[in-house]
Amino acid sequence: MGFDLVLKNAKIPQGNRTVDTHILVKDGKIAGFTNDLTGIEVAEVIDAENNLVLPGCIDSHTHFNDPGFTHRENFATGTQAAAAGGVTTIIDMPCCSVPSVRSVDNLEAKLEVIKDKAYVDYAMWGGATGEDVRNNALYNIKEQADYGVVAFKVYMTPSVPTYPPASDAEMLEIFREVAKTGLPVGIHAENLDLCTYHVNKLRKEGRFDGPAWAEARLELAEKVAIQMAISFAEETGARLHIVHMSTGIGGVLVGEAKKRGIDVTAETCPHYLVLNAYESMTKWRQFAKIAPPLRTTKDNEMLWEQLADGRVDFIATDHAPYEIATEKEAEGMDIWTAFPGIPGVETMVPIIVSEGYNKGRLSLSRLVDVLSRNAAIHYGLYPKKGALEIGSDADFTVIDLDYEWTIDKDKMYTMAKYTPLHGMKLKGKPVKTIVRGKLVYDDKNGIVGKPGYGQFVKRQTISKLERWLKF
Ligand SMILES: [Zn+2]
Repeated sequence: MGFDLVLKNAKIPQGNRTVDTHILVKDGKIAGFTNDLTGIEVAEVIDAENNLVLPGCIDSHTHFNDPGFTHRENFATGTQAAAAGGVTTIIDMPCCSVPSVRSVDNLEAKLEVIKDKAYVDYAMWGGATGEDVRNNALYNIKEQADYGVVAFKVYMTPSVPTYPPASDAEMLEIFREVAKTGLPVGIHAENLDLCTYHVNKLRKEGRFDGPAWAEARLELAEKVAIQMAISFAEETGARLHIVHMSTGIGGVLVGEAKKRGIDVTAETCPHYLVLNAYESMTKWRQFAKIAPPLRTTKDNEMLWEQLADGRVDFIATDHAPYEIATEKEAEGMDIWTAFPGIPGVETMVPIIVSEGYNKGRLSLSRLVDVLSRNAAIHYGLYPKKGALEIGSDADFTVIDLDYEWTIDKDKMYTMAKYTPLHGMKLKGKPVKTIVRGKLVYDDKNGIVGKPGYGQFVKRQTISKLERWLKF
């Protein structure tokens, strides 16, 4: 039989070594590996040029704002940015669209709007808010789970106007309900009362410098929020996931809870690993404003260690761009009133490769875990995604480990042409992104995929035992 594609001269990870091989693809799936192409019929050949080939990388935390806030980003620009950053699957959050996703009806409406736009594959977070608890609408959790969302997002803070936060008791109610589905519940962990109080206090003191934002959203706000969420998980048996964890103390708490057998996982983001509040918020002010905020160099180092030893499970970006003219530096806007969020999907893989793997902070097998495999397992997409195995989707991120380049905000595909990472020098870059056997990004030609090629991926069934065994 003939094959649709061969990705030749690929170096694939096998533990902490690499193996040279040619990867055969048929019908969008990996069909075999060979060292000898003699006599094999293939329709298309892509040369990986002896570069490292990872199972397609996954960003499991994006806000693409479509439909509703498409002046910030839409599914076409967001997934182009993903492709250019070596990301073959994104998982989009339920909160930044109109309507927000808290029911199957709303989810289907969103899927209908984005279906002809995506350049890479996408799965979906489901939603539940304090408002749903008050409206007796938590039946929406089971229906979304049955439809194929991968997890549920809960906010303790009013980050997004279309997605009300949950009080402590409402959050506990959501944990009880999500526990029944076996899906993770993802928490934005910041104590609202502590944040609001300190924001008002610093503002009254006349602080309008950049780092004031980080000072007001104090480390303690994340610490106590994580402690409470862990207690809720212990009480209800829900699978707790801490999204965009920014502090080293958070990783310590998650590590201790794991040891006690509590089902808790955590992600951190590239910016919490390589930026600190004092330098970046002084330099970039509101363009480095995010929630939770950037922290200290000590947190950077602790999070790298925790990412390496498994207390932090994987990397995601919290890609949340805003429109510069109206939401970041509008007339009269200051550090307190500018919107909190930065783009990230395009720079995740290169930063983790450059600052993690190439600098010896992460082994090769850990690199695969944190960029692809663990998120796929965690969200029930494995082994369709996150694996270089026969039968897995032919999603590949081809990385030139020696490529030296500089992050340039004006060359990014995201709609938001700002990033506090602007000017950062990196070694290592995705040079080809392949989704189900189709080249969608190439370093020489840019985006070569087509809108609408990206498909909605539902959560596959996966047992709890299987998940534990694979971690
Ligand atoms: Zn987010």
